[in-house]
Amino acid sequence: SPTQISRVLGDVVSTLAPVARKKEVDLVLDDDGVACELAADPERLRQVFVNLVDNAVKFTPKGGSVTLRARVVDGADDDEPGAALLAPVRRDVVVSVADTGIGIPPVERAKVFDAFYQVDSSSTREYGGTGLGLSIVKRIVEAHGGTVRIESNEATGAVFVVTLPSAQSRRSLPSRVPAALAPDSSKR
Ligand code: ATP
Ligand code: MG
Repeated sequence: SPTQISRVLGDVVSTLAPVARKKEVDLVLDDDGVACELAADPERLRQVFVNLVDNAVKFTPKGGSVTLRARVVDGADDDEPGAALLAPVRRDVVVSVADTGIGIPPVERAKVFDAFYQVDSSSTREYGGTGLGLSIVKRIVEAHGGTVRIESNEATGAVFVVTLPSAQSRRSLPSRVPAALAPDSSKR
């Protein structure tokens, strides 16, 4: 059954609010009332955002903030002939987790998704963990047909952006099926 993204994010924020409060980091949810269903396992999705928010709080000093933002994005499938003439055939949910912490240097951005990889693995490293969180995030997101990327600036912190196809999306149809023959095209 479909999963409401706003419900998952609300749940993640209540789970991590005490951790953020203890660290004096502001945890903000800005979902603008997104009502969008995902064909996803809610428990796996919860795991994705718990990991991202847990990192964001961990790598943000006291007095900083972590902002979870969710939006629904419409777009025509460019690779379908005639797609531009139709109503949008793709709806994605885009969730960003932005923090005001230490950031991730550009050369590290591809590596942090590897299992056990941690930036600065010296014995004096002040953060705990095992380096598994982001590898799990990536695996779950990709298993749902989505993507995860980093936009990060060492001056302003890290931003992780997760894009997931909504349950209403037709992206998962075989690409050879002409748009006019796709299910529901008469209703669009
Ligand atoms: P675990 O998640 O297993 O408890 P971890 O948090 O160290 O351990 P990952 O979540 O996989 O492991 O993250 C890998 C590394 O990426 C982190 O150790 C850190 O160096 C870097 N990183 C992840 N998120 C952030 C962030 N928001 N800001 C700065 N660095 C980050
Ligand atoms: Mg982690």
